[in-house]
Amino acid sequence: MTWDKAVDLLIVGSGAGAMTAALCAHDRGARTLLIEKTHLYGGSSAMSGGSLWIPNNHLMAAAAVSDSPEEALTYLKAITRGTVPEDKLRRYVDNAPRMLRYMTDYSCLRMQSMLTYTDYYPEVAGGKPGGRSVEPEHFDARLLGEEFARMREPAFQELVMGRVSMTATEAHHLLARHPGWGKLTARIMSRYWLDIGGRLKSKRDRCLSLGNALIGMLRRSLMDRGVPLWLNTAARELVVENGRLAGVVAEQDGRKLRIRAEKGLVLAAGGFESNDAMRKRYLPNPTEAEWTTANPGNTGEAISMGMELGAAVDLMDDAWWGPVTLVPGEERARMLVIEKGLPGSIFVNKRGERFLNEAAPYNDICKAIYANNTPESPCVPAYMVFDATFRKKYPCGPFFQASQQPDWALPKLLKERRYLKKAETLTGIAAELGIDAAGLVATVEKMNRYTREGKDPEFHRGESLFDRYYGDEKVRPNPCLAPIDTPPYYAIVVYPGDLGTKGGLKTDASARVLTSAGEPIPGLYAIGNCSASVMGHTYPGAGGTMGPAMTFGYVLAHEVTGG
Ligand SMILES: Cc1cc2nc3c(=O)[nH]c(=O)nc-3n(C[C@H](O)[C@H](O)[C@H](O)COP(=O)(O)OP(=O)(O)OC[C@H]3O[C@@H](n4cnc5c(N)ncnc54)[C@H](O)[C@@H]3O)c2cc1C
Repeated sequence: MTWDKAVDLLIVGSGAGAMTAALCAHDRGARTLLIEKTHLYGGSSAMSGGSLWIPNNHLMAAAAVSDSPEEALTYLKAITRGTVPEDKLRRYVDNAPRMLRYMTDYSCLRMQSMLTYTDYYPEVAGGKPGGRSVEPEHFDARLLGEEFARMREPAFQELVMGRVSMTATEAHHLLARHPGWGKLTARIMSRYWLDIGGRLKSKRDRCLSLGNALIGMLRRSLMDRGVPLWLNTAARELVVENGRLAGVVAEQDGRKLRIRAEKGLVLAAGGFESNDAMRKRYLPNPTEAEWTTANPGNTGEAISMGMELGAAVDLMDDAWWGPVTLVPGEERARMLVIEKGLPGSIFVNKRGERFLNEAAPYNDICKAIYANNTPESPCVPAYMVFDATFRKKYPCGPFFQASQQPDWALPKLLKERRYLKKAETLTGIAAELGIDAAGLVATVEKMNRYTREGKDPEFHRGESLFDRYYGDEKVRPNPCLAPIDTPPYYAIVVYPGDLGTKGGLKTDASARVLTSAGEPIPGLYAIGNCSASVMGHTYPGAGGTMGPAMTFGYVLAHEVTGG
């Protein structure tokens, strides 16, 4: 084999984990190169909320929030239930805070603590009511120069009116109408409209937040170091020489390129969420590629290439799940994160019956959808039903609350496609949805009884601190429960979607890809969603996917550069 290019560490993909691995390996003396298949860098990481779940991080210490490696390990062991080797969990717990410290000290990464964003299971031993999730501060896109135009845009749902960007902390402040929310709204809106230079160029907000801020900070840091990132360059084939991974055959603008990876090759090419055939083969069915909210370029070929080489895979039937709605005119599915737990709404199946705690972590919603989906009581799709009070008070999917965006002001396309179902009675809404009317009426009557006591004895909605984070704190006694009794009634259709798949190449605690015999394949590493997640079948808290991707990027950079 002759090579067109040789580096020490070749990284396939350009998400947060890929960039962290490149940066850390570069700082430790390695020649690194990132290759990205699409014409934009950043992948789902750029589209994301940008949060990282980093237990025992230095920002918690600065805010006097206690945590320890022992508590974090206790929590992870409890929620992963013995499915993940302890040495891998421990490696994560030990290195996640080191990674964040290093990146804060030596790169442009600037994160802030989400002190009130709870772990997803705060009541489990070792769980915390806040602080382990961190999110990016704002980042000025002008610092990227021309590179800004080559960054993947945020998911549409991350933007207000498809334009304006804000941090998760700001969004929560506005949604909960905490004191000062009006001033904050004015500040965010005027910042956007007063960026005259930006507005003359495009509608894209240059004050980046969430995943775009994260990727912007990482990209700027790589630019400062002169680390190359090649776009339109897809890894197509892994090359092995003398039993060791030697490099890849890539395709760049239609021509073949052989790139040698002298110290290691990192697959950081995302999951298979956008590959319909792989979804149908590996995930629970029914499933569709259009139900993912993630990057269209994540089509699983890195996983397939690894498998062809004899790598073992794990967790292929699982994803970072979340209920989604398909909004006409929007390119990607939109996840229902906030609205599903707000009081005055329910999820029902075709029989008109509830089957889950709607305020539970979004990952658990889809697990419940599939677990309850039987021919007798189909749950795919499910239906989110609410009344006029809910519609008036809360944003939902693509709509603002009716007090700000009444039904007549909804976009024409949504009206034409009858996206939002509406009827004067529950029987009418059941007919609109084609579901059992008597079942729906009985379910709503029961739910309304629960709301009077503030207790949901069936599914315990609003009992966990996590449920209440997205509840309406002004609604008492249970911020996630309110009657559904004011016509007209509304509904939207809900599918089991995802933020990406989480099954992939099996790796050890150093991110080395393993064979089915448990042996590392020399020179081959995998991180992010093309590796089987360190979180097993669970989701510890906001940032539970990119926290590990970046941490294991940091870990492997040390491994390839000599510990
Ligand atoms: C709307 C939304 C919100 C989210 N919020 C959060 C959050 O707040 N916190 C969190 O932790 N997670 C969040 N997630 C999930 C998270 O974004 C993903 O799990 C994570 O970014 C996956 O990282 P990755 O490196 O595996 O893949 P990506 O970031 O998608 O990067 C993979 C890259 O590899 C490229 N690629 C694919 N195949 C090839 C190939 N053959 N050759 C070269 N390049 C290739 C892809 O085009 C892509 O750019 C969110 C996701 C979405 C969609």
